[in-house]
Amino acid sequence: MAVSDHVNLEQFMDGVLRRNPGETEFHQAVYEVAVDIFDFIEDKEVYHAAQILRRIAEPDRVVSFRVCWEDDCGNVRVQRGYRVQNNNAIGPYKGGLRFHRSVNQSILKFLAFEQTFKNSLTGLAMGGGKGGSDFNPKGKSDNEVMRFCQSFMTELYRHVGEHTDVPAGDIGVGAREIGYMFGQYKRITNRYVGVLTGKGLEWGGSLVRKESTGYGVVYFLEDMLKHSNDVVEGKVVAVSGSGNVATHAAEKAVQLGAKVVTMSDSGGFVHDPDGFTLEKVHWVMAHKGHRSGQLADYVAEFPGATFHEGERPWKVPCDVALPCATQNELSKADAELLVKNGVKAVVEGANMPTTNDGVKVFRDARVLFGPAKAANAGGVAVSGLEMSQNSTRLMLREEELQGLLRDIMLNIHSNCLEYAKRPDGYVDYAKGANIAGFKKVADAMLAFGIQ
Ligand code: GLU
Repeated sequence: MAVSDHVNLEQFMDGVLRRNPGETEFHQAVYEVAVDIFDFIEDKEVYHAAQILRRIAEPDRVVSFRVCWEDDCGNVRVQRGYRVQNNNAIGPYKGGLRFHRSVNQSILKFLAFEQTFKNSLTGLAMGGGKGGSDFNPKGKSDNEVMRFCQSFMTELYRHVGEHTDVPAGDIGVGAREIGYMFGQYKRITNRYVGVLTGKGLEWGGSLVRKESTGYGVVYFLEDMLKHSNDVVEGKVVAVSGSGNVATHAAEKAVQLGAKVVTMSDSGGFVHDPDGFTLEKVHWVMAHKGHRSGQLADYVAEFPGATFHEGERPWKVPCDVALPCATQNELSKADAELLVKNGVKAVVEGANMPTTNDGVKVFRDARVLFGPAKAANAGGVAVSGLEMSQNSTRLMLREEELQGLLRDIMLNIHSNCLEYAKRPDGYVDYAKGANIAGFKKVADAMLAFGIQ
């Protein structure tokens, strides 16, 4: 008979580091989850014996491929494409595609790992995956983007499918890119199915998908504040980013009566002490385009605002911080500054925007902290609803979808609460999200036996 000999957290992480050399973002994401899971499973032999966490931290499959395309000057360009299929215990792989020059295997493995827990938290039947390329769509013509997307899908199509793996957008991938990729999938396979989400409304997309991630972030904030007898109205909010998540989070925060004072892009951040009105948020949405550093033009349009080149917004005093740009954009020093300036809540719109030592600062200071895998799950949740609509060939109405999104976010909040209470009364949402997300996937894996 096998003698049970549990590895501890340290030995587990040694293994993760040894098997995935140089993949620092992946190590970071796994460690952040493993700390809480080791605590949770301490007295649960079955999860140890079946090596569940070790299995979730080993992607089912990582596909990497060459993507060749021709630019407008006739030069041959070579990019690398990926799809990381992390885990499909509770549904087909699901998760976005990121096109950004920083994309590498470590970043996509961390994103696919996170996505597994996030998708589980939505309560919908979706496993976790992520993909993308080091292609940078900024500054490229429509034709260049089209040629790249078609070439990318010419390989990706053999790995995805409506019941197998359903990609969507992420940084650098919006409706335009999804359109080119969906068109190519349809052309190659001669099948019109929901193989991608985030589609245009005329060709199988869902209402509310565009708004869902950002709105969901603010709904999660609303639920966290309500749980501690507080409200969004009147809060001063610092937002980072100015893409789809950031602008819709800002829009919802303004609608709920908050004062949003910052937004940012790769060039720096705008501080608007008068607050972003809906009109100003819509200006950002309209001008966030295909050129980097476009936000700097805001100050010419709206006097009273200042642009801070090359800086991040975390030094601006605020009640609420919503990091909605990218991974590791909020460091330990930023977290300490936010705490010093009296921040009450931090809710992650981007994936893993806060470094692990930054999260510790918030937890130690008892700041309400909404982790990405719970707080930004509204986007993939509405993707799940887009998949259902594609299967039934019926479109849900906007009010229905808005209501479903609101309910799903509330449900995620309650699921987190179940495991989030610390003995001192602090609600540790990061821990709650990790455990609730893990449990559903782990129990499904146990049901399937050793595989
Ligand atoms: N990329 C988004 C995320 O990080 C959405 C994924 C999806 O809709 O599949 O959750």
